[in-house]
Amino acid sequence: MVTADVKRYRMIIGGEETDASSGETTEVVNPATNEVMGTVPRSNNVDVDRAVASARDAFTGAWARVSPSKRNRLLMRLAELVRDNLDDLARLETINSGKAITSSRGEILAAVEDLEFYAGAATKITGETIPAPSGLLYYTVREPLGVAGQIIPWNYPFLMAVWKVAPALAAGNTVVLKPASLTPLTAFRLAELALEAGIPAGTLNVISGPGGSVGAYLAGHPGVSKVAFTGETSTGRLIMQLASQTMKRVTLELGGKSPNIIFDDADLDAAINGSVYSIFYNAGQSCEARSRLLVQKTVHDAALDQFVEKTKRITVGDPLDPETQIGAIVSRNQMETIEGYIETGVAEGAAIAIGGKRLTSNGLQRGNFLQPTVLTGVTNEMTVAQEEIFGPVVVVIPFEDEKDAIRMANDSIYGLAGTIWTRDVGRAHRVAGSVDTGVIGINTPATAMPGLPFGGYKQSGMGRERGFETMKQYTEVKSVLVNTSTRSANPWKL
Ligand code: NDP
Repeated sequence: MVTADVKRYRMIIGGEETDASSGETTEVVNPATNEVMGTVPRSNNVDVDRAVASARDAFTGAWARVSPSKRNRLLMRLAELVRDNLDDLARLETINSGKAITSSRGEILAAVEDLEFYAGAATKITGETIPAPSGLLYYTVREPLGVAGQIIPWNYPFLMAVWKVAPALAAGNTVVLKPASLTPLTAFRLAELALEAGIPAGTLNVISGPGGSVGAYLAGHPGVSKVAFTGETSTGRLIMQLASQTMKRVTLELGGKSPNIIFDDADLDAAINGSVYSIFYNAGQSCEARSRLLVQKTVHDAALDQFVEKTKRITVGDPLDPETQIGAIVSRNQMETIEGYIETGVAEGAAIAIGGKRLTSNGLQRGNFLQPTVLTGVTNEMTVAQEEIFGPVVVVIPFEDEKDAIRMANDSIYGLAGTIWTRDVGRAHRVAGSVDTGVIGINTPATAMPGLPFGGYKQSGMGRERGFETMKQYTEVKSVLVNTSTRSANPWKL
């Protein structure tokens, strides 16, 4: 397996490549080999202060002077540069995150579409004129919030960075982005490309450092107007508390335990192909992974047989090999957490229909490779059906009828995504309307697509990403009242 040379990466503050003020660094590891591939600055609060100050300066200075149509052109230019650098970006993403190279390429191309979408949105965000009494004019304007503090996880490093950065900049805000400590490298590249595109220095700052210290400090920073976070639900709660000190606007995209419901009238072959993909893509390390497979009893055995059969055909291996479908788990810790969940499942009465073990041949033992795993004999109350495993593990649960399926789908603290497989059009829409999730697919494994709002109900978060909706969440509405009559207002006849 190929790894990059160990390199000293730097973060970007005020348009400059920079080390942490302390000079401290953290190692970044290739999950496919567990070899150190580079070091990144381990920033502290002084660095966060510097990044926020730089973003504030740009907000009232260089970026404020850029018109919406120029923002459009700059973001389009950034999209072009990302596309031009696709090969390098995808390789860097793969050796830093362990994800299959075809996934990295697909996600970076999706990020290009997001950049293009928000480039267009920069000139479309408008206020309203409101019907007013004679002699008065009422209108609203949408104004950018200020500095957005954005904190992202390790499962989709580049895509998450773009989901956060693109709408914020398009709406006229500036950004301090903190990527996950495991996977900061492509976020640095995004900031470099933004500068190359002509986005002024200080508009997009990217800092690396521990979430518990610099992430928390950023989330509570008085110079930050909005916090946008993706990650674990418990971290999301903490972020809300920190942000509440100064009433920051908050968007949270958190965990999930998404149901995948197969009815007995579904096209079973299509349903199984889609279901295998929707849990095992990215080794199951997706917030929207359809990790609970709910199958109608009448087709349960046939569906399970096919699911296991198709799971056997998945290629797990070297993430840089274009034939690979599932690469490495992001870290040794994460792999051990997943294995712990499999053990818990078995201890609570589940059976392993396939998988459950590490891959140890062809050099894979050096990295974090786990077989895709199917757990049967599961009930919806069990730990493995309620907690987010964030790995290649699906639980299969039978249900009686539509009512039972809806009850089980909603019996979760989460409400991010879901999929329904049925040929009955009425049932498809009935169930879609009854499942409490922010996104629901019907006869497709897709959930997160450019242009389509993405986010959760219940403890899966608040606010939406992607889509025009997000632009609104990066603006304040200001109401303006104008006296257009020839008489001055004198309500007290003074
Ligand atoms: P976290 O929520 O801990 O981390 C996500 C981001 O938040 C990272 O940038 C992290 O920094 C930062 N962070 C961590 N603690 C704080 C804090 N106190 N204040 C501010 N920022 C903080 O997720 P993990 O990466 O630790 O993953 C753990 C679990 O979370 C996974 O197993 C999975 O279940 C879930 N998860 C869910 C995701 C989703 O998309 N819904 C994405 C990723 C994880 P740092 O990297 O430096 O710790």
